[in-house]
Amino acid sequence: MLKQNELTEILLDTGVSKVGYSNLEDVLPEELKHLKSGISLVIRLSDQVISDIDKEKGPTPTYFHHYRTVNTFIDQVSLKVTTQLQRWGYLAMAIPASQSINNDGWHYRGLFQHRTAATRSGIGWIGKSNCLVTEEFGSRVRLGTILTNMEFQYDTSIEVSQCGKCNLCVTACPATALTGQEWKVGVAREELFDPELCSLHMKRSYKHIGRGAVCGICLKVCPKGKEILKR
Ligand code: SF4
Ligand code: SF4
Repeated sequence: MLKQNELTEILLDTGVSKVGYSNLEDVLPEELKHLKSGISLVIRLSDQVISDIDKEKGPTPTYFHHYRTVNTFIDQVSLKVTTQLQRWGYLAMAIPASQSINNDGWHYRGLFQHRTAATRSGIGWIGKSNCLVTEEFGSRVRLGTILTNMEFQYDTSIEVSQCGKCNLCVTACPATALTGQEWKVGVAREELFDPELCSLHMKRSYKHIGRGAVCGICLKVCPKGKEILKR
C-alpha cells in the first residue's frame, strides 16, 4: 500500500489529474495475463481548447496540437512509471496513448483498451460517444494505462453508464457514427459506435488541420463534468 501511495503521488505530482487501479486478469489477452494489474491515468484536457471546437466547422488546429501533445505526455508519464516499477523489481509495460493496430478482423484498436482499464478502476463510464466520461471532467480527458505484475488495492469498477436520456453527442456527431445505445459491462464497442465512419469523416473533412486530425465534437458537447470551466 505504501508503494501504491508513492506511485499515486508520483503521478499526481507529474500533472496527472486522476489515478485508478484495477485487476484486469480476466480481460487481458493470454500473453499479458501475468501483468494483471492496470494503473489508469487521466489527463484533463484544456477547457478553453475543447470549447473552441465548433459544432459546425469542427476542430481547430490548436485542438489537433493539444491532442498530440497530451498523447506524448501520457507516453512519457507512463514510461516514468514503468521505470519506477522496474526499479522496484516488477515487470511493467505501458499501453501506447494512441495506437491503431490493423489485423484481420481487428481494426482501429490498440493493444488493450484504455477505457476498459479506466471503467474497471472506477475512473468513469463509457458514454454514448464511446469515450470515457468522468464525473469531474466529463469527456474532456485522455487516458493512459500501465500493466504490471505488482499487486495493488484495487478500486471499485463502474459497470453502467450514467448518460441516461442525454443524447447530445449522438445528435452532434457529423459522421453519424454513434448508435445512441447506452453502455454497460459486456456491450461491445461496435454496438455503440462505428469507428470506420468516425475515422473516414476525420480524414476527409479536416485535411486542412493536419494528417490524422481528430474531431472532438462529441467531447465538446458532453454536459457532464462538475469541474469544467465554462467561458
Ligand atoms: S470524434 Fe467526431 S466523428 Fe468521431 S464520434 Fe466523435 S463527433 Fe463523431
Ligand atoms: S453527451 Fe450525453 S450521451 Fe453523450 S457521453 Fe455525454 S452524457 Fe453521455
